[in-house]
Order: sequence, then structure tokens, then C-alpha cells
Amino acid sequence: MSAPEIPTDEITEPWWDATRARRLTVQRCAACGRLQHYPRALCTGCGGTDLDFVDVSGDATVDAFTVVHRSPRPDLQAPYVVARVRLAEGPILLTQLEGAEPGVWRCDDPVKVAWRALPDGRHLPVFRPAASGADQKAED
Ligand SMILES: [Zn+2]
Repeated sequence: MSAPEIPTDEITEPWWDATRARRLTVQRCAACGRLQHYPRALCTGCGGTDLDFVDVSGDATVDAFTVVHRSPRPDLQAPYVVARVRLAEGPILLTQLEGAEPGVWRCDDPVKVAWRALPDGRHLPVFRPAASGADQKAED
């Protein structure tokens, strides 16, 4: 059984298109400069409709998370970690954490975006532990 297709519409399509090149973006309001995620038709700050997409660093910290022990679908392997992460640029992203045992995560852990390939060429952003020190060499 395959994963259900993730739908897009005219508002979310540019965001998903960027994931084809593994680019993480957020919406930026041309009127007030506010950054927001997920993509919406209106700016949540000023109600403006002139919104474009800008790349973000992919750096984030864990804001909240929960370990899912019973998978709702056969294609999802439990346990897995659903989380809200706060991007370095400010917006919150709902995502999954991977690359560490579910029991070791803590709020405020630094994380970095990673990409899970979808069958149609898009990618789903997930987050992994950030390198713990500048003097440590990151593994590819
Ligand atoms: Zn605005």
C-alpha cells in the first residue's frame, strides 16, 4: 500500500515545487516583510495579498514533539516523532524528526532540515540533529 498523495493548490504549489530542488522556503509579505509558514492567501500580520517565497537556512530548534507509537497507516513505520520546529527565521513548521532514537529528543534541540523523497519528485522536509560542534566534521 502506498502513501496517499499530498495535494497541492495554487497557494501551496510554489512551496512544493521548491522541494523538488530540496529548497526549503517560507512565504514573505511584500507589504510588511513578515515571514509565515504554511503558505496562505493572506499575510497573517497585515492581511496583505502580495506574498512571495524566500529560501530559508534549514536551521531550526525543536519547539514541541510527540512520539507516535501506533501508526495510523500501514506505510508509516512506528515509532516515529512528529514535531513542531521553529525555523531560525521564525516561522513554525510541522514535520517529523529522524536520525535519533525517539526517546532522546528534547525541546530546544538544534536540528537541520533533511529531505525525504516522494515518488513524484517532490521532497518532504524532515529534521535531523544538527552537528553538535563547529569543530566536528559533518558526515554526508
Ligand atoms: Zn504583511
